[in-house]
Amino acid sequence: MIGPRRIVLEPREVPLGGVRGMNVLRALPHRNLPTIGAWCFLDRFGPADTRMRVEPHPHIGLQTVTWPLVGEIRHRDSLGSDTDLRRGQLNLMTAGNGISHSEYSIGDGPVPLDALQFWVVLPESARHGAAGFEQHTALPGLTLPSEHGADASATVVLGEFAGVRSPASVHTPIVGAEIVVPAGTRVRLPLPADWEHAVLLVEGDAVVAEHPLAVNETLYLGDSRVEAEVESATGALLFLLGGEPFADEIVMWWNFAGRTHDEIVEARDAWEAASPRFGEVAGHDVRIPAPPLPPVRLMPRSRSL
Ligand code: MN
Repeated sequence: MIGPRRIVLEPREVPLGGVRGMNVLRALPHRNLPTIGAWCFLDRFGPADTRMRVEPHPHIGLQTVTWPLVGEIRHRDSLGSDTDLRRGQLNLMTAGNGISHSEYSIGDGPVPLDALQFWVVLPESARHGAAGFEQHTALPGLTLPSEHGADASATVVLGEFAGVRSPASVHTPIVGAEIVVPAGTRVRLPLPADWEHAVLLVEGDAVVAEHPLAVNETLYLGDSRVEAEVESATGALLFLLGGEPFADEIVMWWNFAGRTHDEIVEARDAWEAASPRFGEVAGHDVRIPAPPLPPVRLMPRSRSL
């Protein structure tokens, strides 16, 4: 246990591989904080008018969690999935030992698009296993009674929040929940004290644990809290993420999460050799090549908070 913290994770702008002219805001991994629970990656793309064409690329050792805010995303993968994703729905792709997928906006021209994409690192028991894809169109919601103002509401996207469980498959004790706080409302988010948590402000204004947040900032809260107070003057859309602190040190490179340098090299070689490990995404004639490896051995990232 590390105790309560209030550390702002400023997002940095990153060009998304294989998509010219498309930048994303990335809050995780942070240089001092590789994971929050098992969450190991947090991107927001948008809001923007864009023609998204993320061509087939591989993943290992993680789950991708796609949560659109505006617009629709077409997902295709090497398991044969081909489906459109809308606001209020969750795409959850479990890479296991290997999968590949593509993500496109719908139509030929630029369209309004805004989405959160997270990765969740898989524990030893699941990271060598079979790949899978799930789309959830009916996620459970709950009301958070306000201390003043109108009640807030939450959608449990992944794991468990306030005693309500998402039907999505998870492999570690975890929470991912969207929280809507009306204007002039103050609420308390109930939290398990032995988990760590963070809150991302997606839209509006919010003071979280007495700390004012700017849009796209993520406030890391540490652990040892049984609740976090959230207050908004004009209304807020927030995303709560957290879980049991992830015990293993992980090596992340490109689209891969592993434990050692050699595992990453093996996955990269398999993708470059078009190995059956990653299958094929139907309907594409281009794929994203792996970038060159750095000239040093990849090392696990450690915490320094
Ligand atoms: Mn991907």
